[in-house]
Amino acid sequence: MTKTYPASDVVLLAGLGVTDVGENRDQEAAAKAAEVRAAGATPRWHFVGQLQRNKVKSVIGYADVVESVDSERLAQALARAAPGRPAPLEVLVQVSIDGDPERGGAAGDDLWRTADAVAGADGLRLGGLMAVAPLGWEPDRAFEVLAGLAARLVAAHPAATAVSAGMSGDLEAAVRHGATHVRIGTSLLGMRNPLR
Ligand SMILES: *Cc1c(COP(=O)(O)O)cnc(C)c1O
Repeated sequence: MTKTYPASDVVLLAGLGVTDVGENRDQEAAAKAAEVRAAGATPRWHFVGQLQRNKVKSVIGYADVVESVDSERLAQALARAAPGRPAPLEVLVQVSIDGDPERGGAAGDDLWRTADAVAGADGLRLGGLMAVAPLGWEPDRAFEVLAGLAARLVAAHPAATAVSAGMSGDLEAAVRHGATHVRIGTSLLGMRNPLR
């Protein structure tokens, strides 16, 4: 996750072999992706953050993967914007592990409805699930719940094998429970200035 760090850091990381970078704000990410591209580096861009429907068009212009799709409506908005892309947009459905909608993520029937909407949309490819361990939860417990949901998703959608889980503070627990993608910011680039 390269949020708050400049395009030059992404270019350096790409030179070191990092193939995928994540961003969580459209305005910052759009400008950074353009700069990185101009510098000749071509990492895959993951958008992982709250995505307002009026930003969908912009995000689809640079993102290869959107990891934070948590409603049927957002899936439909992406599906409407996706045609015309050279390749399908990969989508991960964001799970709310504790069912609290406050911090984003779908739970219960909403989760499966969102996954089905993505899977059925031309121009989108259902990649799997993404989650953040809820505050106050033991990471092992959180990622065990996520692993159960991921197994259920794969049973219905065999190609949707991605499990994006784990950040600098809990990546080991995430990997123990089958994470295929970890999202590392601080441990690679250092502490961010607190933005919010
Ligand atoms: C910033 C961010 C991360 C990385 O967190 P670190 O603790 O800096 O590793 C992971 N996931 C999401 C969704 C983020 O926004």
